[in-house]
Amino acid sequence: MVASLTPILAASGGTVARTIVAVVAAAVLLKVGMAVLGGFARPVPGLPDPGELRKVRLLYQCTICGTEVRMTTANDEVPEPPRHCMEDMALVTPVDDL
Ligand SMILES: [Zn+2]
Repeated sequence: MVASLTPILAASGGTVARTIVAVVAAAVLLKVGMAVLGGFARPVPGLPDPGELRKVRLLYQCTICGTEVRMTTANDEVPEPPRHCMEDMALVTPVDDL
């Protein structure tokens, strides 16, 4: 692709033409880059109804024995913590991940 463009660039010669080519190329690259980035960004789905299961990524740790549990599905954004050693487990998910 680059090889096929080279004769065109060489033939265009003039500074104005080269500038236009550069601007167009930059615009195309920017558009493609934004499209690629947009592909990574999933639209935030609307909040599910209360009680409806949703994906969560919460890490809980037992305050007594240290056991850690990851919750992946819950019926609330901040569900009741699970229990271990007869006690509620502590939420240890970093705030950034919530
Ligand atoms: Zn425990």
